[in-house]
Amino acid sequence: MGSSELDVPSLMVDAKRLAECLHDSCQYGAAHQYGKLSTETGMARLSLDDSDKEVRDWFMETANSLGCRTFFDQMGNLFAIRSGKNNNAPPIMMGSHLDTQPTGGRYDGILGVVAGLEVLKVLNENSIETEGSVGVVNWTNEEGARFPKMAVSSGVWAEEIPIETAWGLREVTTHGGNPKSIKEELDKIGYRGEHPASYRANPFAAHFELHIEQGPILEDEGLKIGVVHGVQAFKWFDITVRGRDSHAGTTPLYARKDAVLSAAKMVVAANTVATHHSGLATTGIINAEPGTVNTMAHTARFTLDVRHVRDDVLETMVKACEAEFRRIAQEDSEKGCDVEWKVLVDSPAVQFNSECISVVEQSTVNVLSALPETSSSKLWRPMISGAGHDSCYTNLRCPTSMIFTPTRQGISHNPTEYCSPEDCALGASVLLGAVLRYDRLRARRGDFSDLNC
Ligand SMILES: [Zn+2]
Repeated sequence: MGSSELDVPSLMVDAKRLAECLHDSCQYGAAHQYGKLSTETGMARLSLDDSDKEVRDWFMETANSLGCRTFFDQMGNLFAIRSGKNNNAPPIMMGSHLDTQPTGGRYDGILGVVAGLEVLKVLNENSIETEGSVGVVNWTNEEGARFPKMAVSSGVWAEEIPIETAWGLREVTTHGGNPKSIKEELDKIGYRGEHPASYRANPFAAHFELHIEQGPILEDEGLKIGVVHGVQAFKWFDITVRGRDSHAGTTPLYARKDAVLSAAKMVVAANTVATHHSGLATTGIINAEPGTVNTMAHTARFTLDVRHVRDDVLETMVKACEAEFRRIAQEDSEKGCDVEWKVLVDSPAVQFNSECISVVEQSTVNVLSALPETSSSKLWRPMISGAGHDSCYTNLRCPTSMIFTPTRQGISHNPTEYCSPEDCALGASVLLGAVLRYDRLRARRGDFSDLNC
């Protein structure tokens, strides 16, 4: 069944209330003042620290005041559910995360959660009774900044990561040689629930995530909304180049096995391959041993992060890099070096659910039609996310898609991260319209018919 002609009320969120709610939540963990205004700060709200406990208390209190049923699971994921006409079917969830990087901003993750709360406020004040229930989820430790595993708690919910592994993760910042585990910190702040962290015990009808783009494309193209179709594939490698250490002054060029020179040419070659395939290749870490000024290194190590929207093209890029690196190691150093590859991460491309994408697109067209600029130009585009999100895990277990808003200068994971109140509100209104459309879609599809006799 298609999702055409879904007749839903045309509602907009309250931009001012949304901005106030966002900044209200940011009083917990605000840090790194960069401007004169009280809201011109970044965030340092590391997962499960005291400020994270405070914002969790704030979230639960806010959701309870909206009449939601609230609970949290074994990973401390917070859930707020607003009842609909049929409450035996799983809820449509709007989710993201309230934790931040140590030098993070006020929008990454936070916008998606507070926009979910704003959607519930609009439903309440318009006395809208949805067909099924609708809710908001705050996922624990999405950033992987304090406990080094990204989106670990949606990963447990999706049963892709065992809970013991997640509970046992220890923080990267040591407390005097005694780094705390996720389980210890959940217990300390009182957020380790009884409810199983599992999609089987706690299923969703769908998961929609509003998020800042974290890149420059929407702003550069003068657009307001990105309709996200998926997440690009990426692979991380550790590359080791072995040559021979010898004296920088007495070894002629023709007699060298120069590992650093070879590695440098490989970094350039990877960039050429990426450019050729319209993908990305990045070297973020590079080291040489033994590391003295007047000795060429016997070993050079570097990381390689390769990305493309398509798995098959990513594979072609990796093969091309392998061939080029082999050639460089053998021919570009007079006496030849060896090159070794080790895979660190292999993350295939994610394709979001077509019905979710379709309701987001319909909602986007409807919301943007209210803007005067719409008459002269289209203000949205389909996009592929460059970064991973909790939605990658939920997508494995329920229909999922994402909505992007513009991000000033594409800057994220930085205190100055910014999305204007107007753009935040457009994104939240798109989220609202998408949820209402999906709610109507599943009623029309008969999702509730077995449950109502
Ligand atoms: Zn995020």
